[in-house]
Amino acid sequence: MEKNKIEAMKLPDMFDPVKRSEIMSHIRSKNTKGEIIVRKYLHRLGFRFRLHVSNLPGKPDIVLPKYKCVIFVHGCFWHAHQGCKYYRDPKTNSEYWIPKIQRNVERDRRAVQELCSMGWNVIVIWECELKKDKREETLVNLVESIKNKSLFNELFLIFNQAFIKFWTNSEDLIRSDISERNLCGNLAFELRDAIRQSRFADYYVDVEYNRNNGKLKTLMDEYMKVIPITCDVIVHSRGEVVIKDNLVAVEMKKSNQPKKEKEDDRIRLEALTKQSYDNVWSFDGHTLPEHVCGYTLGVYIEINPKKFSARVEYYYNGRCIFSRVLNK
Ligand SMILES: [Zn+2]
Repeated sequence: MEKNKIEAMKLPDMFDPVKRSEIMSHIRSKNTKGEIIVRKYLHRLGFRFRLHVSNLPGKPDIVLPKYKCVIFVHGCFWHAHQGCKYYRDPKTNSEYWIPKIQRNVERDRRAVQELCSMGWNVIVIWECELKKDKREETLVNLVESIKNKSLFNELFLIFNQAFIKFWTNSEDLIRSDISERNLCGNLAFELRDAIRQSRFADYYVDVEYNRNNGKLKTLMDEYMKVIPITCDVIVHSRGEVVIKDNLVAVEMKKSNQPKKEKEDDRIRLEALTKQSYDNVWSFDGHTLPEHVCGYTLGVYIEINPKKFSARVEYYYNGRCIFSRVLNK
């Protein structure tokens, strides 16, 4: 048997390179080993999904309609996983392969863009992340990401509903340049209203609140220094719901404030929306983490009273994922 295998490898390819490429390109596309690992895992946890949905951009490998989430399981070679040891520019027949792989990469990029603009959460898993030593971690993170992004979308809608009300109801106050504190109070009022009508009715909307079960809420700053935090507006359970204490953190600044203060607000939102402190600790689900993080949605609002305009930035997973400008 072993001998036959070796013999077979020595045989010259019976197909010419172009034909061989064609065959290879058919082998890879569907139901790869990686895809099957992911599908089995999700299925076991009770996720329901559709496969290779052709009416969505890029024909995603796995589609979870309930979570508005699509998953691509990419082979490192075919999709040019940069910096990965399984991807190298092909040496043989490169004039054929390189443009072909480039087309794949370009197609992937467009698909992600289109799917995102349609409101889908797009997750890409590379085949190298499913090798035995990394598989468990990848799959656990995948599930976390599916659930968390779905929660983000939900909170995003709730927040925007409240924000639009605030913006229209407070026009006179904003134009008259009342204090940030008052504006935050008004926003909190609308947010409380929206939260009460949602499935998060048991959560609190607090202004400049920084205590949890009598303990000061703290944050570790970029130099790992512990500082107490006072966000302008937060939505949280005041420590009652340990598994998901923090939902939304909002910072508001008027545009004439010092640049440094605006930057500090943004840095704070990046830290607050991280899942953990750079994996220093892991959250066990029973005790609240030592320092605050894990806010699902962070929002930075910069208001220009004179122009009655606002720049709104949305933070997720430790970074600003998009922003928009509101004008009259
Ligand atoms: Zn890879």
